[in-house]
Amino acid sequence: MERLIDRYERFVFDLDGTLWRGKIVLPHVREVLAAIRAVEARVAFMTNSPQRSRREVAGALHAIGVAAAPDEIVTSGRAACLHLIAQGAEGATAFVIGGSGLETELALAGLTFLGVEDGHNAEFVVVGRDESFDYSMLRTAMRAIDGGAGFLATNRDPRYPVEDGFWPGGGALAIAVEYATGVVPTVVGKPERPMLDAVATLLGDEGSTLLIGDKPEADLEGARRMGWTGALVLTGATADPSGADPPPDMVLQDLGDLLRPR
Ligand SMILES: [Mg+2]
Repeated sequence: MERLIDRYERFVFDLDGTLWRGKIVLPHVREVLAAIRAVEARVAFMTNSPQRSRREVAGALHAIGVAAAPDEIVTSGRAACLHLIAQGAEGATAFVIGGSGLETELALAGLTFLGVEDGHNAEFVVVGRDESFDYSMLRTAMRAIDGGAGFLATNRDPRYPVEDGFWPGGGALAIAVEYATGVVPTVVGKPERPMLDAVATLLGDEGSTLLIGDKPEADLEGARRMGWTGALVLTGATADPSGADPPPDMVLQDLGDLLRPR
């Protein structure tokens, strides 16, 4: 009996709301990933969160019983790094709002990081979710961008799902910087190309691709732009798929639907 996973050669998994919700591991995650590994399909994991480096995300996946290599993971920090390399930013200075995981990935672009005191001189400002965000960081970012710094946002997500509801996303901080400066950031996370191109590169040669995520505006829109099949899973940010924009190619109650005979 054919299962959904038997119809695709490449799988792209969102993390928050798709594999886990805060500290809660969502249903059937381990068995679905094991089944996909068993048929030797290509797998990529992507997250708009820049909080953890790819190595730290791989560690978090291992901790829930999912084998994943750091180079199978694209965080928005990785997408920002690749975008900056493509811009020839090696050796540039940057003021970063977003914490150590983001800086770990951005360091691979050869950036020098400036702090709140001298960050107004930075050539790039990169903004993601940062639990230490405060007024002085907003002021430094604003002054750097006023002075001509390039402005990158890891994502535009207003919020993301955790175990007891939602937390504000990186987009909520980026919009504060955007509002203060009047400058619209270059967004590197899904559904924008820096992240999706990085995912496509690690998946390699073309094949039928299924992207599974919980947010229509980020996940389904990303799939639509890449010509991939977009599955909306109802374990995260979206409880009612009826108004999803863009509409999903398929709806999954949870990941277990990928293993059910069709
Ligand atoms: Mg998600």
